Amino acid sequence: MSNAILVINAGSSSIKFSLFAHEPSKRELNLVYRGAITGIGTHAHFTAKALDGEPLASQDLSGADHEQAFSVLLDWLEHRDDGLSLAAVGHRVVHGGVKFNTPVRVDDAILTELDALVPLAPLHQPHNLSPIRALAKLKGALPQVACFDTAFHTTQPDIACLFALPRNLSEQGIRRYGFHGLSYEYIAQCLPEVTGELPSRVVVAHLGNGSSMAALKDGRSVATTMGFTALDGLPMGTRSGSLDAGVVLHLLNNGMDAKAVSNILYHQSGLLGVSGGISNDMADLLANDAPEAKEAVDLFAYRISRELGSLSAALGGLDALIFTAGIGENAAPVREKVCRQSEWLGIQFDAQANQQRASRISLPDSPVSVWVIPTNEEMMIAQHTRNVLGY
Ligand code: ADP
Repeated sequence: MSNAILVINAGSSSIKFSLFAHEPSKRELNLVYRGAITGIGTHAHFTAKALDGEPLASQDLSGADHEQAFSVLLDWLEHRDDGLSLAAVGHRVVHGGVKFNTPVRVDDAILTELDALVPLAPLHQPHNLSPIRALAKLKGALPQVACFDTAFHTTQPDIACLFALPRNLSEQGIRRYGFHGLSYEYIAQCLPEVTGELPSRVVVAHLGNGSSMAALKDGRSVATTMGFTALDGLPMGTRSGSLDAGVVLHLLNNGMDAKAVSNILYHQSGLLGVSGGISNDMADLLANDAPEAKEAVDLFAYRISRELGSLSAALGGLDALIFTAGIGENAAPVREKVCRQSEWLGIQFDAQANQQRASRISLPDSPVSVWVIPTNEEMMIAQHTRNVLGY
């Protein structure tokens, strides 16, 4: 019987999961199936699919809370006749603060420390921790590992993390952390194999519903566009990205309360806001002829190009640019706009390779090489879980 590692990515109303099999004697981890429980708290529904897309489960769980939903998932996993035995669970946890710079096996003391970080990520951290707690109750002996979105960025120099705020605020933890670290770590790990070397000065653009970019020097993060929260940096599906803080003050001073401002910045801005409500989805915008849709796409690409210049400055130059995540991997027109606007950096763009979605989309002699590399945060979590537990 092979061991299995369950990877959990829990949000406010959903729990996404992937199951990886591994034989203790081998290093590989193989994805076996994945699924999700969506609509937790309202019309919860549980689905699971095999790798070929074959549905394996579809169950109405209306009214179930996180713990009930989780126990259905565990029950389903345990009763599958697939020769796998659940050995450990790896969780995506958004915030590890300054302290947690690597994944960690969770016990009561660690859970208390992670709870103390809730004020730094109130929208995500409680939901990440709730399945850990539920599982500890349901299956106390099962090892659990927390993998942090922030950890990869703890290699940033202090200067990259400081806001120009009064020092006492910085000392309270109001500083730049950075997110999407599991994605960047996965890409850094793939780079030598994909590019045939490890380019020294690399910028990775993780462009999905949430988007950010990171500067990697010799595979380690030295700067990133997200900061104290996942609201900073690039415009996103519905998030504004970087904004003059004066805009927030203006809105607050002119009748909006903090909740209303937060709703605008997190849920009504970004691609959705700029397109005048057409869509938060890049594929929809690219297929739409309205000038507002075009402007949203153009602003997104423009901001990426601007940040690429800034991150290249942090690296002292640029050797390679990597596109990843839903937009980065699939939206050829966005990649083209960014590369064309960044020719001054030494990018010689290969339009045909880009259309064909080749791995390398720069010309062979381009001083800066450009690549499309699919990310795999779940695999990164599974690897970390195995490594932390010493399998
Ligand atoms: P999340 O941050 O939720 O993980 P993803 O990485 O899945 O997001 O990215 C979702 C984004 O990728 C959406 O804006 C979607 O429109 C975009 N996307 C996916 N496929 C395509 C495509 N073929 N063309 C353009 N955009 C695409």
